[in-house]
Order: sequence, then C-alpha cells, then structure tokens
Amino acid sequence: MNTRSIRFRLTVWYAGLLAALLTLFGASVYFGLGRYLEWSLKDSLAKQAQHMTSTHLADVGLTGESYVVEEIREHYAPEINSRFVRITRSDGSVMYVSGVPQDGSFDPTGLPLPTMPSEADAREVHLPQGDGEVLLYTMHFTARDGSRFVVESGAPFDQIESVLHGLLLTLGLGLPVIVALSISGGYFVMRRALEPVDALTKSAERITSRNLNERLPIVATGDELERLSVSLNSMVARLDAAFTHIRRFSADASHELRTPLTVLRGELEGIAQDPQLTKEMREMIGSALEETERLAKIVESLLVISRLDAGEARMERARLDFAELAEATVEQLSLLAEDKSISLVSDTPEPVEVEGDRARLKQVVVNLVDNAIKYTPAGGRVEVKVTREDGHALLEVKDTGGGIPAEALPHIFERFYRVDKARSRAVGGTGLGLAIVKSICAAHGGQVKVESTENKGSRFVVQLPASSYVNAAQETVEAAITKNAKQSAED
Ligand code: ADP
Repeated sequence: MNTRSIRFRLTVWYAGLLAALLTLFGASVYFGLGRYLEWSLKDSLAKQAQHMTSTHLADVGLTGESYVVEEIREHYAPEINSRFVRITRSDGSVMYVSGVPQDGSFDPTGLPLPTMPSEADAREVHLPQGDGEVLLYTMHFTARDGSRFVVESGAPFDQIESVLHGLLLTLGLGLPVIVALSISGGYFVMRRALEPVDALTKSAERITSRNLNERLPIVATGDELERLSVSLNSMVARLDAAFTHIRRFSADASHELRTPLTVLRGELEGIAQDPQLTKEMREMIGSALEETERLAKIVESLLVISRLDAGEARMERARLDFAELAEATVEQLSLLAEDKSISLVSDTPEPVEVEGDRARLKQVVVNLVDNAIKYTPAGGRVEVKVTREDGHALLEVKDTGGGIPAEALPHIFERFYRVDKARSRAVGGTGLGLAIVKSICAAHGGQVKVESTENKGSRFVVQLPASSYVNAAQETVEAAITKNAKQSAED
C-alpha cells in the first residue's frame, strides 16, 4: 500500500477525524447521561420523601406512628421497590427504617444516622455493608403537632452505574466497528472517485512525441477531473501543433538546402575542370568540394530523419526477406572492408520475413556495417547475423573495434552526437547515421540496442517485428495454387 497516495492520506485523515469526533461524542453522551440519571434519581427521591411526609407524616399526632409506618409500608413498599426509607425523630431515635430489599441489591444495615440538616440535600453515601453506594435524599419535616423528623429516601447508586457501564460497553465496542466500517467504506469510495485519475495517468503515460495525435479520455463527471482532462487534452493539442511545426520546419529547411547545394557542387566541379588553375587553387577547390559533399550528406540525412519523424516519409510496405537483404548489402560493402583489411562475414542461416520498406531497411544495414568498418582498425572482424527469435527479426552487427565509452552509450543515437568529433569527421561521419537507424526502426515498429566494451568491440542489435510464418506459408501456398491454375488454363 502506498502510504503517500491521496487515497491513503485522505482515508487516514478522515478516519482520524471521525474517531476523534465519535470519541468526543461518546464522552459527552456518557457524562451527560450520568448527570441526567443522577439528577432524575435525586428528583424522584425528593418527590417520594415530600409525598410521604405531606401525605402520611403531617398528621402523625392524630393517627399515631404505627399507622404512619403501616401506610409507608403499604404505599411505598421500599423492600419491594429497592428503595431505602428512614424516619428519625428529633431526639435521634428511629421511627421507621426499611430493611434489605428483596432483590438484595444493597444492605442499608448500619447506615449512620443523620444529623439534623438545615435544608434538604442529596448525597452519595458509602454502604457500611458491601461496597456499594446509595444516593440518599435527606430532609427535615415538622408535623402539624410540632414534632420534628428527619426523613431519608435512598436508592442504590449502582442502578445508574450499570446503565453507564452498559453505555460504555456499547460505545467501546461500537466505536471501533463504526470507524473500521467507515475506513473501508471511505477507502472504497475514494478508490472509485480516483479511478478516473488512474485512467488519465495511464493514458498520459502512453502519449509521447510520436503519438501526440492521441488524446486522453474525457471523464464526463462535470467536476474538477473533467476540467483537468479537457485542459490536458488542449495542452497535448498545443504540443502536437508545436511539434508538427518544428518537424515541418526541419524537413522544409533541409529540402530547401538541397538545390543550392547541388548547384554549388556542379559549379565547383566545373571550375575544377579548368586547366588554367594553379595547383593551390585546384587543392582549395577540391577541399571546398569535399565540404560541399559532406554538407549535402548532412542535409540528405536530416531530410530523411525529419520526414520519418513527421510521418511524411513514403514507406513502401512490402514483405521481404531481411536475411537476404542483409546478405546482399554485406556483399556490396565487402570492398570497403577489404580496403581496410577487415574481415566482413555474414551469417544468415534461414530466411526471416519482415514487412517494411526495402530501401530504408537496407539503409539500416549499411549504416551499422559502415560504422563497424569505420570504427574497427585494420585486421579486425565484423560479423553480421540475421535470425528469428520470439516473433522478431534480429539483425546483429558485431565488431572488434575500439568500442564506445560507457558514458557515451546513452547518447549515440542522438542527432549529431559523436564520441570523437575529429575521428568521426576524419572517417566521413556526420553524427546522423545512428539517428537515422533509430528513426527507421521506430517507423517499422522496432528498436535498436547497443552493447559495447571499450577496446573490445561493439554489438548493435536491431529488432523488427517478423511477419508470421503462418501468413507467409499461406501466401506461398496461395501463390502456388494460382500459378498451377494459370498453367492448367494455358495448357
Ligand atoms: P557518425 O556519422 O559519426 O558515424 P553515427 O550516428 O553513425 O555518426 O554514430 C555516432 C557515434 O557513435 C560515432 O561518432 C561513433 O563515435 C560511435 N559509433 C557508432 N558505431 C560505432 C562502432 N561500431 N564502434 C565504435 N563507435 C561507434
């Protein structure tokens, strides 16, 4: 799980906030309910005491104490209702005290006698028997005959405590469950909400300078994501226009330079024919001609690259035997190798069919083999091999030359990049040969790679999609059938 992702961070924030709020809410409910239950118990005890005194104790002088006690037992039945009632005379003697409730919820035996309070009050009193507490409401009362009493009405406090305990348990179990459910729910919702962002990212990653005509999917949600995808698309459109403009410009510039260069070369060649020229003049014109030819080569190469890049180059797509093409090209370059006393060998054990432009694929072989010969000293060896592997045609050009320094390897397919400018110039290089190879390979849906060790040699591998054997075989069979059919018609 990516802990830096928006999804993760938002979920953590949201879960943290929710847990904090729920804890705050739980605590307020717990303490609020505690206070309310205590207040309500106090209220009910006070009402009971007041009712008892005004209804039964007020006329104790007339009815007699035993009648009052009977009335209290009958109407309030403290032992049955889990209540405590005690009436104490002003001399401190007890007129009535209730016993242990039937449910045994508390034992009031030994509860200290009250002092005569100035006014009614309610307090928590620890029970001498057991470890519970009772809430005791105490009031003083003067009967009509003037006799004074302290009336106490109590109820066990653990009634409130058990309610609060139940609430605490519910909150303690419920809160983590709610938080866990909201985390998973939030994570799921977030994942769904961010899915379009993933789709946008994947599509954006696919767009390179070669397929700027592609667009990102528009997320029709009417929200920020839709605006983002629309803005990104208009940015890609602007980039597309800028790239097209640059490519057209280089293609047009190289094209425009061709004619004046041809004219220049023709004129220089014409002047060079003049018999009246001095030796120095002839040498100068010869060198000017050489430079003009180099310039023409550069312009030609630039034109090829920019047309390939702009997708404007006319490519003849035909099925051809790449092995046979490489073999024939090597044959043509053998003189070049011989001149440098380099052994140039080719190994093309079987036909390898590819779909492509013959002239351009030949240029790939020429550029790579020409480089291998150029950068390999006399006595060296250059091997060319074409094989088929996993549905690909592989062209391998291996030499025993000076190799390429590791730091230069990532750059050698860049335009005008030369490891050793002076050396490349001396051997007639333009720094565009490998850039052309790369562009042609890309235009054929293939790629070129290089491995090289300094002072040991280099190995260039071109990988092109091979035409399937099945199709090739099918076509051969079809051609044979047509030929047979024609022949039998002629017969
Ligand atoms: P150039 O016209 O200079 O040969 P390329 O684009 O064909 O330009 O090659 C770029 C650079 O890569 C060359 O200048 C050379 O330094 C290096 N290079 C290419 N092929 C080889 C090779 N077979 N052995 C050593 N160096 C090579």
